[in-house]
Amino acid sequence: MTQNKQKKDKGDAEKMCNLLSLNEYQKLAKRTSGAGGDDVERRLMVSALGLAGEAGEFANLVKKMTAHGHPLDVEALGDELGDVLWYLAEAASACGLDLSAVGEKNVEKLRKRYPNGFSKERSLNREG
Ligand SMILES: [Mg+2]
Repeated sequence: MTQNKQKKDKGDAEKMCNLLSLNEYQKLAKRTSGAGGDDVERRLMVSALGLAGEAGEFANLVKKMTAHGHPLDVEALGDELGDVLWYLAEAASACGLDLSAVGEKNVEKLRKRYPNGFSKERSLNREG
């Protein structure tokens, strides 16, 4: 192994250690939770509306890029994705779900649906 490869591997490992898990993010997001109060139904309503609103902001940036000729603004898109993530974490918390468990379950579902990666054939003829 070359010295450059070792440095790269060490850098990648350090980055991996510094990544925030979904559950850690969910805990941190709770710091600014509260608009929905303690009522589960209200929290779900606020998080559902928030998810739709922030997804709409993301879509609007993409629309401006494709239909109005705005330049690709990755930073703005990332900001909106962060807002979507916050409401996703809030929705999971309101349901009493761990965001990591939600992610793992989704990955498992997609692994069963598309065992060799996405395929149009499996998409057209899927069962679940
Ligand atoms: Mg936003």
